[in-house]
Amino acid sequence: MATFGTLSDRLTETFRNLRTKGKLTPADVDGTVREIRRALLDADVALPVVKEFTAKVRERALGDEVNRALNPAQQVVQIVNEELIAILGGEQRRLQFAKNPPTVIMLAGLQGSGKTTFAGKLSRQLAKDGHTPLLIAADLQRPNAVNQLQVVAERAGAAIYAPEPGNGVGDPVKVSRDGVEYAKQKQHDIVIIDTAGRLGVDAELMKQAANIRKATDPDEVLFVIDAMIGQDAVNTAKAFQDGVDFTGVVLSKLDGDARGGAALSVASVTGRPIIYASTGEGLDDLEAFHPDRMASRILD
Ligand code: GDP
Repeated sequence: MATFGTLSDRLTETFRNLRTKGKLTPADVDGTVREIRRALLDADVALPVVKEFTAKVRERALGDEVNRALNPAQQVVQIVNEELIAILGGEQRRLQFAKNPPTVIMLAGLQGSGKTTFAGKLSRQLAKDGHTPLLIAADLQRPNAVNQLQVVAERAGAAIYAPEPGNGVGDPVKVSRDGVEYAKQKQHDIVIIDTAGRLGVDAELMKQAANIRKATDPDEVLFVIDAMIGQDAVNTAKAFQDGVDFTGVVLSKLDGDARGGAALSVASVTGRPIIYASTGEGLDDLEAFHPDRMASRILD
């Protein structure tokens, strides 16, 4: 995974310098914290997240647990590791299923964020686990979106509920509601609703997504965010949180050379867990997100 490459190298370098020291003076700790701060900012991590993170690391690194440690530098690395896990959301959070099927999963995010691709990956993974997912094509803004989802569904071996071809100007709220009813009739135990995205956050899109949410009462609303989005991650995530109150996050394009800022900011600023990492254009490039593994990858 290319993401975090530079951040990872910078932190490794910082800790290598730290390891040359025995007992750590407050000046050593401050120097280290300053380097961590710069590395995070250069990786596009949002400023409030960086501030909170470095303040915690500093406070702990100046405290007793480091003072008393046999290997103080190692203890600081451990603290950074723990605090990274915390900003990535702490415990792993799995997808939640409805007690009474179908489980309804709604996807939201900007155009090009990777929603349609993720819909295919998720339906494939769920089908492999014995579920019978139905994809609902509720992106009726882009003329080609329904076709694209049809292609994805076919490749993933998933069923699809879509408006008739040529009838693409339908009402996405009605399509979503009808799709969920259709799933109940046909005994699909999972429904994945692909909604419209625009290039920027826009009020009309949010209202439409909020109406789909209201009409289908989803068990999960997953916000798909492109890891390459950098500093825009926080504002975009907050806008979607206000608009559709998502329950979880999918980080897409983590295979690219994103600097990692989105990944390291979004869970922390929204308080919503990252549930999946999408790591390529192939249908099988999907991983459950583990905060501890991601932290290890960064500190490797
Ligand atoms: P949507 O507009 O949100 O539905 O976005 P799409 O699913 O159509 O994805 C936009 C582009 O990003 C497509 O070219 C996808 O192949 C690509 N894409 C989606 N997910 C990933 C990913 O995890 N890694 C990479 N490298 N490309 C991705």
